[in-house]
Amino acid sequence: MARPWPTSSTRFAGVIGWPVGHSLSPSMHNAGFRALGLDWAYLAFPIAPDDLDSAVRGLAQSGCGGLSVTIPHKQAVIDCCSAVTPAVEAIGACNTLIPDGNGGFTGDNTDAAGFLQALDEAAPVALEGAEVLLIGAGGAARAVAFALAGRGARLRVANRTEEKAAALGEVVPFTPGAIEEAAASAALVVNSTSLGMGSDDLPGGLPVESLGPQTVAYDLVYRTEPTPWLGAAAARGARTVDGVGMLLHQGAIAFRQWTGAEPPIDAMRAGLTAQG
Ligand code: NAP
Repeated sequence: MARPWPTSSTRFAGVIGWPVGHSLSPSMHNAGFRALGLDWAYLAFPIAPDDLDSAVRGLAQSGCGGLSVTIPHKQAVIDCCSAVTPAVEAIGACNTLIPDGNGGFTGDNTDAAGFLQALDEAAPVALEGAEVLLIGAGGAARAVAFALAGRGARLRVANRTEEKAAALGEVVPFTPGAIEEAAASAALVVNSTSLGMGSDDLPGGLPVESLGPQTVAYDLVYRTEPTPWLGAAAARGARTVDGVGMLLHQGAIAFRQWTGAEPPIDAMRAGLTAQG
């Protein structure tokens, strides 16, 4: 007979968001715990915005071993932390909570490092002095901009709401012509908008004609099938990076911080793609 599980000594971690039922993180992290034989479980906690502070405090006090933070809490959760890392301060968003040993949580942002690890793994680019076109200027874009600045890239940003682009780099007007022109001279083009998320049609607003073997096209949108934009980029000879790699690596960094164990990347990737 199988041994009962979980038990009173099982540790728990989870993701907080609103809604959170779509999250792939439970499947990824539980696959990692299983692969290492860790007596941990990872759950999804739907937390309404008004309940964020009390929920985070309660989870910390009940011995939670770590939390991922997703939409819409990535900014508001900063006020619930006992301390935050320099990455959170620079990006203005927090996606990982780590127990501080004192009944609270330290906030970190692992999206920036996860973005770079996925890029280095799938399509390495020499970024020092290289021109990069970032499309989008939301929370994910701020993490990407922080990561790219750390590698010395020259950042140009196109966003539907132009004021937000100006906060991140040299503005490229959000018009098809200007975006194609900027993409033509970029070594790396990143889509950090939600364009292409829910449809198989190629979205307007992302460059295609100017992409080629000289380009790396990186789509933060994650799906098991290539996004329409990455499909079009690959057809023009560009190297491509999908959003699954970033999701995997940001989670793997958090996994290491929570458990102290080396994350089993292959098992976590398999957990992600089985669910997605
Ligand atoms: P966000 O803060 O809400 O930002 C959304 C961005 O998309 C903004 O730049 C917004 O432009 C733009 N946008 C939305 N609809 C648009 C439209 N119809 N036309 C043009 N631009 C549009 O969201 P986020 O957290 O940055 O997430 C953005 C995407 O990245 C999502 O698809 C998310 O799933 C993905 N993501 C992936 C990972 C990963 O690990 N792979 C991590 C984080 C996020 P405005 O500023 O004009 O509104």
